[in-house]
Amino acid sequence: MSRTGWVLAGGLTVVAAVALLSLPASGRTSVSLLISGGTVVTMDGAGGGAGTVIPDGAVAIDGQLIVAVGPTADVEAMYVGRERIDATGQVIMPGLINTHTHAPMVLFRGLADDLALMDWLNQYIFPAEKATVSAEFVRVGTRLAVLEMIESGTTAYADMYYFEEEIAATTKAAGMRGVLGQTIIQFPVPDAATPEEGLARAEAFLKEWADDDLIVPAVAPHAPYTLSPDTLKATRALANRYDAPLLIHLAETRDEVGIIAKDHGTSPALFLDSLGLWSGKSLAAHAVWVDEVDMAMLAARGVGLSHNPESNMKLASGTAPVLGWMAHGIRAGLGTDGAASNNDLDMFEAMRVAALLHKHASGDPRAMPARDVLTLATRGGAEAMGLADRIGSLEVGKEADVITVSMSSARQTPLFDPLSHLVYVTRGDDVRNTIVQGRVLMRDRRVITMDRIAVIEAAKGMSERVRSAVAGQGAQ
Ligand SMILES: [Zn+2]
Repeated sequence: MSRTGWVLAGGLTVVAAVALLSLPASGRTSVSLLISGGTVVTMDGAGGGAGTVIPDGAVAIDGQLIVAVGPTADVEAMYVGRERIDATGQVIMPGLINTHTHAPMVLFRGLADDLALMDWLNQYIFPAEKATVSAEFVRVGTRLAVLEMIESGTTAYADMYYFEEEIAATTKAAGMRGVLGQTIIQFPVPDAATPEEGLARAEAFLKEWADDDLIVPAVAPHAPYTLSPDTLKATRALANRYDAPLLIHLAETRDEVGIIAKDHGTSPALFLDSLGLWSGKSLAAHAVWVDEVDMAMLAARGVGLSHNPESNMKLASGTAPVLGWMAHGIRAGLGTDGAASNNDLDMFEAMRVAALLHKHASGDPRAMPARDVLTLATRGGAEAMGLADRIGSLEVGKEADVITVSMSSARQTPLFDPLSHLVYVTRGDDVRNTIVQGRVLMRDRRVITMDRIAVIEAAKGMSERVRSAVAGQGAQ
């Protein structure tokens, strides 16, 4: 539709016509960004699935907020965008939400694969981290991770790592959103010699990022088996003093279940409950080994869970009972985990693997339909991260975290059902535009807020340090 010919264009609805009568011909409201002409997949929850889908739809954004969602003709009758995105042939949908990763671990991508978990950790990941992880390493790695996420349509992520203040500054500078947790662990790690030092760093981090509009600072005790009960309790107390979320790994492997049973005589989920760890905002990753009692408790406590199907499969950790989580009404999202165990941050791939895994594991091809996976990756993730009032769907009043996704490739032709294509054939590099809080971070595949070539060159440079660190351990 041309800018001058819009009044004469066909298909104007009654609603739009009424709006026209109430405004002078040139009196459309000016908004900062108008995305139009695409299939809008709102994920607003209507009908218990992906929600309202609007063929030839538009989204009007003013500043940070969504001000209108509807048919293109209706929205264009009311609003004119100072900046415009023509989404013809594309889906317009909420940005994807990655509920669990370790951003800087992209620098360990492909360092070592196809190993038993303990060999992988002890021969490669731990020595590489010990020798290389610094504030600079975290900054360089996070830039690469954020670039990859913006390019593949992720607009918000939850993270747990060291030097989390560097991750926050890098994420904020690129215009992305994060719930970012400073890791606390019982043994010496690159940014803290003791858990007390880790707690002090976490508190400084919570203070530094309080009230930021893109970054939610969090406390991230690593796991129930890598911290003493007293330190675990201290992490919860710290988080609650600042009304901050607590992020943790939970019941990832059968080994963990065995360790906690031996030391504490109960399951990882119930052990943490006995310490009061769930008495506040909580997001736990994996929850592969949880039973009905665990799930009922996690649902009652309002704990958000992050499902990481690719990491669980690659490390042979098991199949998380996500159908059970859903039956219990647990707030559930989808994650990639760190790139060292995935090996990328592409949430489209995570969606496809989640759909296939739960059909395969349950023996029921009706399990985990496309609409449920899309919910996990958008609205469900927002709920799990405690941000459902701000993001996760395209609705008036929510913050404008939006992506547009091409549906025109050979692999996506023909197109009968956009929800099917989003889960079963779409890839991260089909994303054309990425918008966070109303700001365009990638326009027509060109990332605006980062220098792509410099980011990749810096990451390659850092990878030489990783290579020599591992070689120094004699583990080539
Ligand atoms: Zn993890």
